[in-house]
Amino acid sequence: MVDSLDICKSCRECCIGTEIRVNDEDMDRWKKESRLDILLSINPLFGGSRHLIRKKNTEECIFLSVDGACKIQDSKPNICNKFPTNRKHAKAFKCKAIDLFFPISKIKS
Ligand code: SF4
Repeated sequence: MVDSLDICKSCRECCIGTEIRVNDEDMDRWKKESRLDILLSINPLFGGSRHLIRKKNTEECIFLSVDGACKIQDSKPNICNKFPTNRKHAKAFKCKAIDLFFPISKIKS
């Protein structure tokens, strides 16, 4: 049986070309966990208090490995854990696991 994790690992569209925003909760957790590897990977946003995870020249998140896995799976940003938040959100990002996350049958009932 195919599950969303299998599909996500072969896709990772949401890890490419998107702005991976970090919130205060992420920052506090990484400081508490002494995750310098993550803290040093952050770009502050100009004129704001929010931050972004850096990207490679290819627009991929720097934590996306060649096999499609997230290198910081154990403590990835909240925004990554919550993706996709709803069907519309998944559709906007061309999520290939949209029907597994949000089955049409559940929406209609
Ligand atoms: S932190 Fe992990 S899940 Fe989030 S965009 Fe980067 S590689 Fe993808």
